[in-house]
Amino acid sequence: MRLVILGPPGSGKGTQAEGLRDRLSLVHLSTGDALRDAVKRGTELGKKAKSIMDAGGLVPDDLVAGIVEQRLGRGDCERFLLDGFPRTVGQVEMLDGILERLGLGLDRVLLLDVPEAEVVRRLTGRRTCGQCGWVCHLAFSPPKAEGVCDSCGGALIQRDDDTEETVKQRLSVYSEQTAPVADVYGKRGVLATVDGSGKPAEVLELLLGAVPQETA
Ligand code: AMP
Repeated sequence: MRLVILGPPGSGKGTQAEGLRDRLSLVHLSTGDALRDAVKRGTELGKKAKSIMDAGGLVPDDLVAGIVEQRLGRGDCERFLLDGFPRTVGQVEMLDGILERLGLGLDRVLLLDVPEAEVVRRLTGRRTCGQCGWVCHLAFSPPKAEGVCDSCGGALIQRDDDTEETVKQRLSVYSEQTAPVADVYGKRGVLATVDGSGKPAEVLELLLGAVPQETA
């Protein structure tokens, strides 16, 4: 089972990817998480990526493809889910090359479809714990105490790229550079589009229904 999950920022990719990882026993590789981790650790890659990410732009294709090739090449990735990659048509070609070198194929590309007004609402209200990474939403799942993490008591912060201005920039990057990725996979016959506007548990069931069914 080798999958890609695509969707605009705020479509619930991260949440759904975790659900798919658990239900299907997949290695989950999120390039956004890997880049945030590099920024936090202050690596060379993190230093290059930080200002681009804060402005809502895309990190250069070769840097992101390097992360993916390194992780998929570790040998435990017979079953994987790529989340946030490929994000440009250039990255699709790079992924083709990586998979060919590793002798692997792609079974399905899942596209989460969520209206733009809804993703803006979701992203601008999102808050994350600076200590443990717990995620909540000011309107949909507010913390018990304002500004405080329910899970560890740490301070809740807004991701630097979740401010309204950056969200608009990320959405325009998505429609210009990432929407064409879905078209490429659509032409290859591996794309499944799923309505991502429902509750997380409902969307997960739709996604599970859209992946190739495995026999036990
Ligand atoms: P995400 O958590 O997937 O929304 O990613 C957060 C940010 O990381 C994006 O807005 C980009 O700046 C950067 N990023 C993540 N994945 C990629 C990618 N495949 N290509 C380029 N930049 C990426």
